Amino acid sequence: MSRERLVVVGNGMAGLRFLEELLRRAPGKFEVAVVGAEPEPAYNRVLLSSLLAGDIASADVQMRPREWYAEHGVTLVTGQPATAIDVVGKTVQLSSGQPLAFDKLLLAIGSEAIRLPLPGRDLAGVMTFRSLADIEGLEQAASTGAPAVVIGGGLLGIEAAYGLARRGIRVTLVHLMDRLMERQLDAEGGRLLADAIEAKGVRVLLGAETGAIRGSSAVEAVELKDGRVLPCGLVVMAAVNFGAEVIADGHIHVYAPLRGRAIAGARGNTAARIFSTCMEPQLVAIAGTYRTTDTALPADVLGKPAQVRLDGDTLVVEPLPG
Ligand SMILES: Cc1cc2nc3c(=O)[nH]c(=O)nc-3n(C[C@H](O)[C@H](O)[C@H](O)COP(=O)(O)OP(=O)(O)OC[C@H]3O[C@@H](n4cnc5c(N)ncnc54)[C@H](O)[C@@H]3O)c2cc1C
Repeated sequence: MSRERLVVVGNGMAGLRFLEELLRRAPGKFEVAVVGAEPEPAYNRVLLSSLLAGDIASADVQMRPREWYAEHGVTLVTGQPATAIDVVGKTVQLSSGQPLAFDKLLLAIGSEAIRLPLPGRDLAGVMTFRSLADIEGLEQAASTGAPAVVIGGGLLGIEAAYGLARRGIRVTLVHLMDRLMERQLDAEGGRLLADAIEAKGVRVLLGAETGAIRGSSAVEAVELKDGRVLPCGLVVMAAVNFGAEVIADGHIHVYAPLRGRAIAGARGNTAARIFSTCMEPQLVAIAGTYRTTDTALPADVLGKPAQVRLDGDTLVVEPLPG
């Protein structure tokens, strides 16, 4: 008897964690293919700041080698983003043009680094911080020893600033709000964190709004809206867009082990923005909010935060508790 074909789009930490759990609970149940946009198989993204800092080697961030996927009968396609999903024909289109047929589709597409819409954002030396490829670029830029400005005082910005400072780079962390990680910390916590970051050699500027990035062909300075100018040879934009545009309907589930919840905002009947938040490895759940009018989804999860969990070897869609 032929097996159901399961395609997992996204080979990040959540996608891999799902796969490990699926293979443990229901080995052989599905014919599985995993599609990853990045050239490498899933790696530990959380360790990227340690890698940037030079505290660990790139081998230390690896999770499962390619052989592991092969040993478990999983087809692994890397370096090829899924560009379209045909929910009627049940195929995923890869950037190579190759279609991949599925019976069940799982999106584990995480979030992506974005470039803030600032003048000068396309100058050489303006970088993002989220992937192994970003680290390679940052290492190269840091090797010049030029001062760096990190824009964004959330977790990502702090991680980037720390990694660069550990490399001996003079780093200024610019944050719009009056405290770092304002979503997670109160005023006192934010102050303690800023003190701790400054003790690591990072200059922290709070309540500072970036106006423009200046330079003729490469970055020369960051200009704040209050007129201050920060000379630098590297700018790191530490911001992410939670999710990616996808075509969604009832066949699509979003896997995201969550601290909070995954949310998908409606954009018509079939287009949805899928949000994935934090990694919490011990919680195995597939979650998404479907604010679409997809009638293929159970009525009690339509438009609400929902989770898909493995019940034995069956995927169950249900409202998120609480
Ligand atoms: C330095 C650093 C430190 C962090 N520290 C923490 C922490 O302490 N705690 C915490 O909870 N989180 C932390 N995070 C965030 C953490 O990395 C994310 O929570 C986690 O990576 C989410 O896993 P994910 O698999 O959902 O998404 P991702 O890791 O973003 O993986 C999604 C994958 O899907 C791929 N993809 C996207 N679109 C497509 C497509 N169309 N086709 C194919 N593939 C696609 C992406 O390329 C990516 O490889 C940190 C992040 C960084 C960078």
